Amino acid sequence: MKYKNTLAFAQQLDQEDSLAYLRNQFHIPKDKDGNNWLYFTGNSLGLQPKATQKYIQQELDDWANLGVEGHFEAQNPWIRYHEYLTDKMAKIVGAKPIEVVVMNTLTTNLHVLMVSFYRPTKTKYKIVIESDAFPSDRYAVQSQLKFHGFSEDDVIEWKPRKGEELLNIDDLEEIVHKQGEEIAMLLIGGVNYYTGQFLDLKRIAEIGHSKGCMVGIDLAHGAGNVQPNLHDAGVDFAAWCTYKYLNSGPGSLSGVFVHEKHAKNKDLPRFAGWWNHNKATRFNMRQPFDVMEGAEGWQLSNPPILSMAAIKASLDVFDEIGMEALRQKSEKLTGYFEFLIHEMDSEDIKIITPKNPKERGCQLSIQVKNADKRLHQKLTEKHIITDWREPNVIRCAPVPMYTTFEDVYQMVSILSSILSKLNEV
Ligand SMILES: *Cc1c(COP(=O)(O)O)cnc(C)c1O
Repeated sequence: MKYKNTLAFAQQLDQEDSLAYLRNQFHIPKDKDGNNWLYFTGNSLGLQPKATQKYIQQELDDWANLGVEGHFEAQNPWIRYHEYLTDKMAKIVGAKPIEVVVMNTLTTNLHVLMVSFYRPTKTKYKIVIESDAFPSDRYAVQSQLKFHGFSEDDVIEWKPRKGEELLNIDDLEEIVHKQGEEIAMLLIGGVNYYTGQFLDLKRIAEIGHSKGCMVGIDLAHGAGNVQPNLHDAGVDFAAWCTYKYLNSGPGSLSGVFVHEKHAKNKDLPRFAGWWNHNKATRFNMRQPFDVMEGAEGWQLSNPPILSMAAIKASLDVFDEIGMEALRQKSEKLTGYFEFLIHEMDSEDIKIITPKNPKERGCQLSIQVKNADKRLHQKLTEKHIITDWREPNVIRCAPVPMYTTFEDVYQMVSILSSILSKLNEV
């Protein structure tokens, strides 16, 4: 097996990789001397497709040349711009087109969706989140509780067992079994941002629904990374951003999923604006509010076209290759990364991400005993861009779209030499 731990073998894997050509379609950041960074933070901000500029330029030109007429006369008329994204986005998350829309930003969408799906009563009002939930999600549910007159402490945390890092779904089942009468909603990160654990969404939905709880999924670390099959999973709603694995630019818009079973329920309480009003009569401007069916029925505003153009550029790449091929490469690339880290044979290093490729995406979270932020600084000095989480975890995402096997090889050999030097001191 040793020969696999060589630069030559990594380069051979790149040569055999049928998706290797994709890297050339992205801008890879470089240091001052023109060397490519080893970029492992596509889980935080995905790299820019070279095509993005052209897509945005098209809209800038149409705006310059057409002004307001661009709504109807632009090459891609703005009035329906979000529709150009729907089918491709639906494929990425395993949904039907009626279940998906791109609108607003992620945390905003969590709130907009909770207006409809967090409907607490005096006795059934608590919210379950995972204990390592992304801070924004925690703040969002706490503020929803307070908004409805409850306390922040009415959040129930699904925690890893003592001494463990990962969540065990049996524990969620027990929480819901015991306290389900008081729980109104589960809001769970489908792929945990910290550990990279990809949870069984179908089982989460079944557990929640067994006690009449609504089930929402934050898919920020899942969309474009794993295949969440949202429709079949049967969750009620989901939301995700497009600037992580979906490569659509800093602060870009969010995708939303509302399960088909809610598509025609016009009685669901919700906020309204002109963009969830019936398209056919929207511009009469006088009709009584007439809400659209499906996920489009949660839109409020006419959307930012420049940001959507960047999403369109990115989704076209995803659509060309498909999630299945991307996932195949991803499992291989992350598997190789994991293999090389094990080859380091260091007692100080532990991967906290699940070993089973079906329970993770591309990210590996590497815990380094006795390390501190200096390790992260040393990596950065060597042009390896990773994400540091206190107290001692490096999150690394070899994104299959633009990361090579050679990148992964180089990363591990540099990490290994930094660690051996740190240990000498
Ligand atoms: C990235 C991320 C966010 C960020 O939310 P914004 O509203 O886009 O700033 C929220 N939740 C999770 C789980 C994330 O991974």
